Amino acid sequence: MRIYLLSLFLIASLLSACGTNPVTGRTQVTLMNQASEIAVGEQQYSPSQQSQGGAYIVDKTLNDYVSRIGNTLAKHSAQPNLPYEFVVLNNDSANAWALPGGKIAINRGLLAALDDEAQLASVLGHEIVHAAARHGAEQQTTAFGIQLLTALIQTQTDNRLYQQGAALGGGAVQAHYGRENELEADYYGINYMVAAGYDPYAAVELQQTFLELSKNRSQGDWLERLFASHPPSAERVEKNKQRAQGLPKGKRNKAAYQQAIQQITKDKAAYELHTKALTAVSKKQWDNALSLTNQAIKKQPKEARFHITKGRLLEAKDKHDDAIAAFNQATALEPNYFAGYFYRGLTQQKIKQHSAAEKDFLSSNKLLETSVANYYLGEIALTKNQQSSAVSYFRKAAQSGGEVGKAAQEKLQTLGVQ
Ligand SMILES: [Zn+2]
Repeated sequence: MRIYLLSLFLIASLLSACGTNPVTGRTQVTLMNQASEIAVGEQQYSPSQQSQGGAYIVDKTLNDYVSRIGNTLAKHSAQPNLPYEFVVLNNDSANAWALPGGKIAINRGLLAALDDEAQLASVLGHEIVHAAARHGAEQQTTAFGIQLLTALIQTQTDNRLYQQGAALGGGAVQAHYGRENELEADYYGINYMVAAGYDPYAAVELQQTFLELSKNRSQGDWLERLFASHPPSAERVEKNKQRAQGLPKGKRNKAAYQQAIQQITKDKAAYELHTKALTAVSKKQWDNALSLTNQAIKKQPKEARFHITKGRLLEAKDKHDDAIAAFNQATALEPNYFAGYFYRGLTQQKIKQHSAAEKDFLSSNKLLETSVANYYLGEIALTKNQQSSAVSYFRKAAQSGGEVGKAAQEKLQTLGVQ
């Protein structure tokens, strides 16, 4: 439902071209050729995942299942030879997105809101159309907004935690599709579903689910944010209904779907406790937040995000050693997710363990480059008298704007560098 593009600079530097849309046959103006599009998708795939919770790995078989359904649908698309990939993100919000070139993500929170495989096929079919019809390449640059926050900190408004997180994930530029592209993705997505043997009525139910979720304000502010930029509509429900009526009924595969998502169904209570903990954080109820997080860990000790929240809460109480122990758990459970390293680095930096902090910020940056990590790497370089290295880190951090960018600018001025 959303797409991420690399940067305005890259887009602007590519020539626009007029061509025929591979899905619909209509004339289409695009800002880049297909090879550039695929390159953008490949480049942004990993950081886009990292900035939105990382891959869901508590049950790795779920990703295999989603990939299998996705690849089957992609074979029926107008562009079956794109380098499609499908990932389940460890994110609570009911969302999915496609990058140019066919890199597609679906959140754990959306999988939990679906009933059967046909509904999943409806989501994936829709996203495959966005990629196959080259909607990302078609977007106007003026429609772009910048996605700044990680999923982890989306519900947290406390300044202390918020400021540390706010500079994360700022590299991805997000475009919202217009009404035309959404309707097109719904329309052709249903074709792919039907070709793969699924019941097209599932696409109607999907839009109904989104409408219902949008009415439920008690679900937290991430929903308001989501639907403010991406409004579900009665029109889409109606259009899908009309379309489904003329098409053959197909399979649902409800039992297979429920089996595939059984771990997230089982862990529902644990994730709810974690969400409550984050709400408590936003109200500065630290002890309550920590107690809720510990309850979540008791229910699902393998979820690295819970340990990261625990570490951040302990750090907020200046319990540095306990915080580091919690972050150690997180990085052991999820060595490919940046946040465990990032937050452990902040704690190490605070207690002046510079070489441990440096190691963590480098590991964190390898997975998702952040201005905060660059800023501290600059400070650490200064402690080692490595001035030119410090300057290059501060320069990178200064590009981000905001508080961190300003602090990095000041450092550069102090060092006599413009
Ligand atoms: Zn969409």
